[in-house]
Amino acid sequence: MSMPQNTPAQQSLSYIRAIAAYQPGKPITELARELGLPVERIVKLASNENPLGMSPRGKAAAEAALAGGERYPDPFDLIQKLAARHGVAASQIVLGNGSNDVLDLIARVFLDSGRSAIASQYAFAVYPIATLSVGGDLLTVPARQFGHDLDAMRDAIRPDTRVIWIANPNNPTGTFLSASALRDFLARVPENVIVVLDEAYTEYLAPADQYDAVGWIAEFPNLIVSRTFSKIYGMAGLRLGYGIAAAPVADLLNRVRQPFNCNNLALAAAEAALDDADFLHRSFAANRDGMTTLVTALKALGLEIIPSSGNFLTFKAGADASRTAAVNQALLRQGVIVRPLVGYQMPEWLRVTIGTAAENERFLAALKVVLG
Ligand SMILES: *Cc1c(COP(=O)(O)O)cnc(C)c1O
Repeated sequence: MSMPQNTPAQQSLSYIRAIAAYQPGKPITELARELGLPVERIVKLASNENPLGMSPRGKAAAEAALAGGERYPDPFDLIQKLAARHGVAASQIVLGNGSNDVLDLIARVFLDSGRSAIASQYAFAVYPIATLSVGGDLLTVPARQFGHDLDAMRDAIRPDTRVIWIANPNNPTGTFLSASALRDFLARVPENVIVVLDEAYTEYLAPADQYDAVGWIAEFPNLIVSRTFSKIYGMAGLRLGYGIAAAPVADLLNRVRQPFNCNNLALAAAEAALDDADFLHRSFAANRDGMTTLVTALKALGLEIIPSSGNFLTFKAGADASRTAAVNQALLRQGVIVRPLVGYQMPEWLRVTIGTAAENERFLAALKVVLG
């Protein structure tokens, strides 16, 4: 008997059916249900969230913004503030419901079934999804030491290529590209190819590594920089990110953007969090200290790590995929959630977010039990 060919799902676009769903970090509430444990007993170090919580100033502003929930959002103040902060015109800012929303807008404006985008092997999983969801072809370039091989990415450009996705630092590997390497790359990319520089973790960079890519847009109008409030600002659950682009590019992105894609609470929180220098400083310092603790401890356990410039660390938990899966399961049974990287074709590796000192100790204690 032949299978029916006319179900609703079978009427979908074939390039949509080819998409592998994003696998988020396991929610605390889900593991609590599975183990029958109270949520307080669980440590989640799986989604690169800020272990210090949300910016207190942002939180207070979000609470105050609850009054006024009957009104549609007005993003004017946040856009002005971001423009001033980055030294660009307000017309260059594109707000997103998280920066992933901005990545989707870019795909919709620049890609379709006749065009290709380029991403690195082991790069952020949203790039393939954004590309494939509009029918674009994704060209994946082999990584070099788990990071972007910019020369190979340049060589991969085809006549139909319109977008190049770059995360710096990259997730899930934590690899970093220097400002000079990025600038050299931009100088060699044809101007009809958009280069997306996803800087979700840029605030965590060591002072010596920090750079200002927004300042390059005047010289390279094909550059789009994306930023987020999900990481160091501690606002992953509120959903606020933004892109900065040349004004004509930002104008196109804003045309396809849902008019009210950022809600009142997120807008108010982001605006206040931008001024929360104390929280940003504490978050940066906690990450640096926690990174040192985890790197030292994992190396002492004889585990291979990928040096990371972000707020997370990727380490080889087992010699093969099944051993690493067993380590992950054993950590879960102890109430510790980290991120398996099977979906990234890195099945021997696990990614752990830098937590508070107490969370890092919980993770290390659990790992030592697992590794015997
Ligand atoms: C976490 C992350 C983001 C942030 O996504 P949001 O939609 O802003 O929460 C963007 N890019 C990379 C590489 C990330 O790891």
